[in-house]
Amino acid sequence: MSVKENLSAVLEKIADAEVKAGRTQESVKLLAVSKFHPQEAVKEAIAANQFLFGENRVQEAMEKFPSILEENPSVKLHLIGQLQSNKVKNAVKIADCIQSVDRIDLLKEIEKQCSKIEKKIKVLFEFHTGEESKSGFASREELCKALDFCAEGKAPHIIPAGFMTMAPFTEDQSAIHKSFSTLYNLAEKLKNEYKNFDLTELSMGMSGDFEAAIAEGSTMVRIGTAIFGERDYTNK
Ligand SMILES: *Cc1c(COP(=O)(O)O)cnc(C)c1O
Repeated sequence: MSVKENLSAVLEKIADAEVKAGRTQESVKLLAVSKFHPQEAVKEAIAANQFLFGENRVQEAMEKFPSILEENPSVKLHLIGQLQSNKVKNAVKIADCIQSVDRIDLLKEIEKQCSKIEKKIKVLFEFHTGEESKSGFASREELCKALDFCAEGKAPHIIPAGFMTMAPFTEDQSAIHKSFSTLYNLAEKLKNEYKNFDLTELSMGMSGDFEAAIAEGSTMVRIGTAIFGERDYTNK
């Protein structure tokens, strides 16, 4: 199957899941995760009208995306992997959104680098909801400290836009649903507490669990394998 065919199959499944969950049509955005796949694969997806992409690692994104972003102003790149502070300088150059904000120090560095280039950037706060994954804010208190930091006006170049999580890698459907509903419920509360921000984005769901994520209120699914095929980790 080609990237184009995979994309339309995934879009159809997203649409079906929206209907099944009683969600509005096209309320779920598709982030095509191109990590470990070559630039040609990204271009195939663009030719099939996919404009929103996700990458895990800044260095790989820097090899693949600058020329693409220059040629296609409608293409947007989100960074979704754990981000070391020394990578932030390049990250903010190419990303429209950083989905994996998991500590205040990272917010501070994003603010610093964005102010240098006078760019505003969207961020999602990653929250730990699954037993097996280690990434994300571990508690609501920690997450609120980060939101407070922004609410106090200390990060004028940062636009808090919502939340992200990864479900545990398990066959246990109830554990997967629980992980997503945990983030949904937390997001509902925080949207109320931080009314000055538009915290509507809920990035949850990958190739193996996006239908469950949509049932639990995801607004953006991050899909790699189902679009681009298996990743060849020996390539890098
Ligand atoms: C790789 C990755 C994805 C995509 O995973 P697939 O299972 O290939 O769809 C989604 N989110 C994050 C954070 C990832 O690292």
